[in-house]
Amino acid sequence: MKVAKFGGTSLASAEQFRKVGRIVASDPQRRIIVVSAPGKRYKADTKVTDMLIACAERCLAFGSADEEVRAIAERYGEIARELGLGDAITKTVANDLRGRLAGDKKHRGRFIDTLKAAGEDNCAKLFAEFLRSLGLEASYVSPREAGLLVSDEFGNARVLPESYANLRRLRERPGVTVFPGFFGYSPKGDVVTFPRGGSDITGSVVAAGVKAELYENFTDVDSVFVASPSIIEKPCAIVEITYREMRELSYAGFSVFHEEALEPAYRAGIPVCIRNTNNPTAPGTIIVPERTLAAGAVTGIACDGGFCSVYMSKYLMNREVGFGRRLLQILEEEGISFEHCPTGIDNISVILREKHFDAAKEARVVERIRRDLAVDDVSVERDLALVMIVGEGMRHTVGIAARATAAFARAGVNIEMINQGSSEVSMMFGVKAPDAHNAVRALYHEFFVKPAAS
Ligand code: ASP
Repeated sequence: MKVAKFGGTSLASAEQFRKVGRIVASDPQRRIIVVSAPGKRYKADTKVTDMLIACAERCLAFGSADEEVRAIAERYGEIARELGLGDAITKTVANDLRGRLAGDKKHRGRFIDTLKAAGEDNCAKLFAEFLRSLGLEASYVSPREAGLLVSDEFGNARVLPESYANLRRLRERPGVTVFPGFFGYSPKGDVVTFPRGGSDITGSVVAAGVKAELYENFTDVDSVFVASPSIIEKPCAIVEITYREMRELSYAGFSVFHEEALEPAYRAGIPVCIRNTNNPTAPGTIIVPERTLAAGAVTGIACDGGFCSVYMSKYLMNREVGFGRRLLQILEEEGISFEHCPTGIDNISVILREKHFDAAKEARVVERIRRDLAVDDVSVERDLALVMIVGEGMRHTVGIAARATAAFARAGVNIEMINQGSSEVSMMFGVKAPDAHNAVRALYHEFFVKPAAS
């Protein structure tokens, strides 16, 4: 059996519903369909999830949100009417939202999550109805009934391990089961959502629970590209990639698939295929546990900004037992997660995400490093970007670093830091943020244009 997940743009309008209906009907193996809430129909449009958040906030501030309820219900009504399903859904959605808005408001996060989840929940019900209108046997299932249990971290749910055995029972349901993405239930019975974009996580968890042969993730691009199309014009597509490579690329800014969504499929060994609802015959990108390494050791190039580095040096640091532990302890006590930690003989840097390191934290951390670690020198550099080249084949290929650094030199990009992951699947370069796109272009030319031309 296959689990197929459709994102917000795939379900944004009646026309998109029809495309998804055809995709589902064309393969009887597609037995579980996970849906997002209707997304943007055009660039300036608003996603239903954002409308729901605004609705919840309006109600918290003013006690009601009639206009917002009407507009959200109308999004569903318009889709249903165009699909020939009548107008009943408008009332159903409005009543559902009013019921949620009448709920307990003492805990802001819980209240907002209850509203946010309505987007996918109503979309799943409407999509099941649409499939039935096409003559398919189809039913909606609630994550509560299916046993998708999550932690009670509102807006940041984590799947509880018992969910997998519960979800396995979905295999026994007849026909096509439509499952709303993005939320589960806490053991106490509260609705809790995953982070934004989290329907990808639901799909992966459900696929792992039912031990699917394949998890298909339908979105609005033909495939994952070797570099961001916002930096490189018409980059090459990635046909096959390993979980590890995908994880590294997502870390540094690839956003086709939610970063946390890969883990359940990875642990269950289920291949994930990224495909395009608007071009379903395109083969897409398949994410697999292992792959045969073909020529061209680099699979992808990613870059992400918003990093900073804390550099320190101390004469004879390398002889001081416990220096690294004490440094990381300072960060831990400040609640800062560190990203990388390149070291020299008498110096060490920690790379942090700037969003976790505001000016007040910087002042405290620098002061403690000076005082507790008695360093000779400490400095902070902000506005850094990390540029990564990723590829399983790099492990067995000599000269990748030389080619990358030569490409940087030709492009006039100064490298602030180099770090090769211990797994040798990735190589990372810290550069000043304004140089990042130039750096990606230089690497793309080196690894994807030049070899083909020569
Ligand atoms: N609808 C939710 C969001 O916009 C979840 C998702 O689409 O995956 O974040």
